[in-house]
Amino acid sequence: MTSPPLRSWAPDRTMAEPRVDRPSFMTMIGRGARNRCPACGEGRVFSGYLTVAPACGHCGTSFAELHADDAPPYIVIFLVGHLLVPVIFWVEKTWMPPMWLHMAVWLPLFTIVCTLALRPVKGAVVGWMLRLGPVGDQDITMPASRARGPDDA
Ligand SMILES: [Zn+2]
Repeated sequence: MTSPPLRSWAPDRTMAEPRVDRPSFMTMIGRGARNRCPACGEGRVFSGYLTVAPACGHCGTSFAELHADDAPPYIVIFLVGHLLVPVIFWVEKTWMPPMWLHMAVWLPLFTIVCTLALRPVKGAVVGWMLRLGPVGDQDITMPASRARGPDDA
């Protein structure tokens, strides 16, 4: 028994429209981080704050098989921890504030920064997954005429 090959998104080559190349890796990640469809750059990735839409409203690229799971929170915790923990150590070493003040400042700050960072990071992960293809055995396609976005020359 063999598992189906992992496929990445590609324009539909079976249609009679002109062929286009997939956007670059960084283009798809950037579009996802800005809540834009990684494939066309026009539609939206999210239908709620962190709920991924079933498909792009502009080009119809399916997002239903993209499950980011724990990757976005892992990346956010990694990044925010590396940004804020050195500041906490510096504040402690410089002023030695009481522990209740640390808790009153850093816990809400961590919560706010992580909450704000989670959506763009999850969008970037969706773009990353759409480009590299961990989407199971379903073929994700879109009409070639709608694959160009505003930031493509
Ligand atoms: Zn789209």
